[in-house]
Amino acid sequence: MGSKKFFILTFGCQMNVYDSGRIAQILTARNYQPVHDPAGADLILLNTCSVREKPEKKVYSALGRFRTLKRKKPGLLIGVAGCVAQQEGEGLLARVPYLDFVLGTKELKKIPEILDRLERTAGRACAVALDGRIDPYRELPLFPAPGGPTAFVSTMQGCDNFCSFCVVPFVRGREVSRPSQDIREEIKALSEKGVKEVTLLGQNVNSYGRGTPGEPDFVGLLESIEKIPGIERIRFTTSHPKDLSAGLIGAFGRLSRLCEHIHLPLQSGSNHILERMNRGYTKEEYLERVQRLRAACPGISITTDIIVGFPGETEEDFRQTLEMLERIQFEEMFSFRYSDRPGTRASTFPAKIQEGSKQKRLTELQALQRGITQRRYKTWEGREAEILVEGPSKAGGEEKTGRTRANHIVNFPGASIAVGALVRVRIQKALAHSLRGELI
Ligand code: SF4
Repeated sequence: MGSKKFFILTFGCQMNVYDSGRIAQILTARNYQPVHDPAGADLILLNTCSVREKPEKKVYSALGRFRTLKRKKPGLLIGVAGCVAQQEGEGLLARVPYLDFVLGTKELKKIPEILDRLERTAGRACAVALDGRIDPYRELPLFPAPGGPTAFVSTMQGCDNFCSFCVVPFVRGREVSRPSQDIREEIKALSEKGVKEVTLLGQNVNSYGRGTPGEPDFVGLLESIEKIPGIERIRFTTSHPKDLSAGLIGAFGRLSRLCEHIHLPLQSGSNHILERMNRGYTKEEYLERVQRLRAACPGISITTDIIVGFPGETEEDFRQTLEMLERIQFEEMFSFRYSDRPGTRASTFPAKIQEGSKQKRLTELQALQRGITQRRYKTWEGREAEILVEGPSKAGGEEKTGRTRANHIVNFPGASIAVGALVRVRIQKALAHSLRGELI
């Protein structure tokens, strides 16, 4: 019998990209093969995100598109995994009558069992248990296959912080760290397959090991990964400012493979809003950490997330956020309009901000940051940088693309340069979100 085909559509964050890699490997072990066109698939899986309203809406419109395929091919299985699946559970099966299964964020191990059942008998399945501090990867037998010289590696799942706007503690569960030995084994296997750069993932990655007896803290984990042969670069995301320890700040100056970049979500520049968000730090504390990072690691690139239009955000609160952008000079910013997320405390807060005001603030914020990013990128012109070559550039032709250690995308002519090579380039020109360089 020929192999069946699967198509995974991934929404949202890097954690979902990692999970999709693990799902792909489970399916490959069951004699499924990946296809790029859903029309050719026997199984379509949507790995979803509900952290914001927009990606969640996209899930439903994608499901609508796949309905036509199901009509043409009745044997086609359609499943939804990830945060929307966890959040909606059985309700999703009721809402989408042609959906075959729903798989929660901690239920990847159930995929073979569910497929066995659905391939043999008509029916539907829903697995969304989220109990306890269970490592969802522990019972999965295989390591993710690398798709190039860089790879994501999950270090922990869930979150105990309960920021008032965030669904993660509800859809990914409470914080659980993977055993450090599993993480190292996975990275060693990736290194043997040619991976040179790993990005350690976790919703709150810098609290790794907390409450896990016998495991190192995050700095200890970084130190042990630094020793793995073949791994030239280590990154991590996402860090919580309140858990940014002196030890971790010092590690940026001390660990040679730890790249000079940190993503440190500020969310708001107003203490009043930070408190309502339950973020656990003030803007003064955030600024102090930025200063210490820059003292420990001059040239470190700092990127951030900002939410505008949080319930109760006044014009004055918003001005304070703009002021923080001016003071800190982030390299890049990811910004979002606040949207109510089901089950969160903030969704019950009064004083909701009108969509028009949110959009106006977002536009102003993004215009300010665009200028800052341009100025920061401009400082790279004429300088040298080490690039890890990740593949052909989007422009095609003989262009290659890669990243600096500080996480800037650099495109350069490099027909003869192999993917995975570490090369030195001189930066010629700064563009809006990338740099152009030439090989030295
Ligand atoms: S730290 Fe806050 S924003 Fe980040 S995952 Fe946890 S609850 Fe959500």
